Amino acid sequence: MIAGHFGLAAGVKSQERSIPLWALMLATSWLDVVFVPFYLTGIESIEKAPDAVGTYGGSIIHANYTHSLLGAAILSFVFGWFFSRRWGERAGIVLGAVAFSHWILDLIVHRGDLPILLGNVGGFPTLGFGLWRDPAIAALIELAMVLAGAWLYWRAAREVTADGRLRGRADLSAGLVLVFGLASLAADWTGFLG
Ligand SMILES: [Zn+2]
Repeated sequence: MIAGHFGLAAGVKSQERSIPLWALMLATSWLDVVFVPFYLTGIESIEKAPDAVGTYGGSIIHANYTHSLLGAAILSFVFGWFFSRRWGERAGIVLGAVAFSHWILDLIVHRGDLPILLGNVGGFPTLGFGLWRDPAIAALIELAMVLAGAWLYWRAAREVTADGRLRGRADLSAGLVLVFGLASLAADWTGFLG
């Protein structure tokens, strides 16, 4: 689900033009970035789902801290707060919301493995609508998000450069967004990302 997150970042960029694209990209993947050290130290883990069809979306992810509802809220708040100190309150709120959107998108695809509290204390029911059980549909939605995000970004970038001089740069940057999104989706689909 990396590509879908990036597509959303590109779409937000078309509306919030003063926020750098890299910050929006980092925001959408922030929970996964924090997941890496948790994964490497064995605090969080990934397990193959028994009903997995292929590699894409075929995992149950035990990210009980970074991807708990409370953990995601805290991480998103910290992310937004950090950037609000630099780029102002509005940028901080947008980046915090984009960071939290990661959890919402994960909620749609994950197989009921997202806990509510840190470390799943209290043993409340874990969440996830499990769209990954239908990998073709999930991948098509991701593809649509990448295409829509790149297109919105391209349109916005062209508007900003209406005098024509910087059009080549607008086309190039939108093209890179598209290639990056498609490449991450292809990598995810073929199992390169695990
Ligand atoms: Zn995630």
